[in-house]
Amino acid sequence: MQLVELLWIVFTYLGIEHFRATPDSIHLDFLPYSHSVFTGALLAVLAWWMGKSVHRSNVGAAIALGIFSHIVLDIIHHEPNITLLPMAWGPRLGLNLQGYPLLDFIVELAFCVVCWKILGGSRGLLIGIVIFNLINIPLMFPRPGSITPIVEHPAILPTVILVQVVTSWLLVWWLGRRTIYLEDTSPGTLSGSFSKEL
Ligand SMILES: [Zn+2]
Repeated sequence: MQLVELLWIVFTYLGIEHFRATPDSIHLDFLPYSHSVFTGALLAVLAWWMGKSVHRSNVGAAIALGIFSHIVLDIIHHEPNITLLPMAWGPRLGLNLQGYPLLDFIVELAFCVVCWKILGGSRGLLIGIVIFNLINIPLMFPRPGSITPIVEHPAILPTVILVQVVTSWLLVWWLGRRTIYLEDTSPGTLSGSFSKEL
């Protein structure tokens, strides 16, 4: 669920949230509105409530879980920069797994596969998940000099993330649709509706 990431992209473009790029790393200094624990919980409750009133199925709960897991994963992944409330004040959470790229990759892939298993996703979706995690590798292992363009043109970072988010949606939509068609999964089942709406 990349709603939280989309908020970050919008807020960063608008200058409401900001990051700092140094030649060898990127520091997400200020992202309390899109990425606080409170924001994640609020969006998750909203998604759950909307799903319940519109769909009368588990789709809302699945999306809520997806949204909140973004915050949980980011706390594991980021250096300490996740606040509890949408404000600069307060403790900052983050276990900095991104400092250990190989472990980071394994944990993220394992998490995706567990979610896929729980939600009963299609085979095509699993292939998409693996492909997407592989595409992500160059971002996890920044080479010397690869950050320099971002230092000079900060707008590159939210743009790259935006492209990544949209690509993952297209991939999930395409693979989900194709497999639903191939395996004749009923559109009323959780996996069917979830793939379509992710
Ligand atoms: Zn995030």
